[in-house]
Amino acid sequence: MRVAAQYSEPAMAPLPTPLSEPVDAAAGRPFVARAGRWLARLREGASASACVVCERWQAQPLCPACRQRFGAPRSRCRLCALELPGAAAEICGACIRHPMPLQASVTAWSYAYPWDGLITRFKFHGAVDLAAPLADALAESVQDAWRAGWLEPPDLLLPVPLSPQRLRERGYNQAWELTRRLARRLHLPAHPQALQRLRERTPQAGLGRAQRLHNLAAAFVVAPAARPVLAGCRVALVDDVMTTGATLSEAAATLQRAGVAQVQAWVLARTPAT
Ligand SMILES: [Zn+2]
Ligand SMILES: [Zn+2]
Repeated sequence: MRVAAQYSEPAMAPLPTPLSEPVDAAAGRPFVARAGRWLARLREGASASACVVCERWQAQPLCPACRQRFGAPRSRCRLCALELPGAAAEICGACIRHPMPLQASVTAWSYAYPWDGLITRFKFHGAVDLAAPLADALAESVQDAWRAGWLEPPDLLLPVPLSPQRLRERGYNQAWELTRRLARRLHLPAHPQALQRLRERTPQAGLGRAQRLHNLAAAFVVAPAARPVLAGCRVALVDDVMTTGATLSEAAATLQRAGVAQVQAWVLARTPAT
């Protein structure tokens, strides 16, 4: 089932803020470093920008060298996106024993350097300009999975929502910032409010999976007006990080109770198994 896209064109993104001042001859002289980067940008043309990881001026905001060095594709469980030790298996042992209500999961990276720092800035420090390069990387992982034939394109993209209170505090939902860019790039419809979060509960950090599931009970609800659209739909839920999968599982279960046929998870980064 197709529905009208609900996203809007993002405003022109400002230049990305570097992770730190560059470690080079200009270290300790940030003005000189900034001027040098500005001159380098003039030389390389207006389309260049600083790579958000290495800060070198590039045509892309996330340079090919950094993506290759830190983000080479790994063999992953197709259901929960955990790294697998070898390429032979497709499903991890945990998913065989206790499958989540997710038909597939795809991620760009493991939650580790440098992606953990970028995602923290994007999510907690207002660096919304990082949404574009982060969404681009996730879109490429999704397209790789489509080409490999194990992931089906969904009918609709939905962000994992924030509660109204958290949205007011943060000013933006980082998952929606990713979702609307993914929708535009992959030519899929998206909706920011079909799935809603009633409240945030106790912070998830430090809780085990069973405690998290308990903590999240009835945290999500489907907007009544969205029910006809969602019935029989294949949905991809978009979020920044999958840690235990408890949040995505609860959101997916809520959607399936509302008649959604299939739920995939698309996440920037997957926390490795401990
Ligand atoms: Zn780079
Ligand atoms: Zn798994």
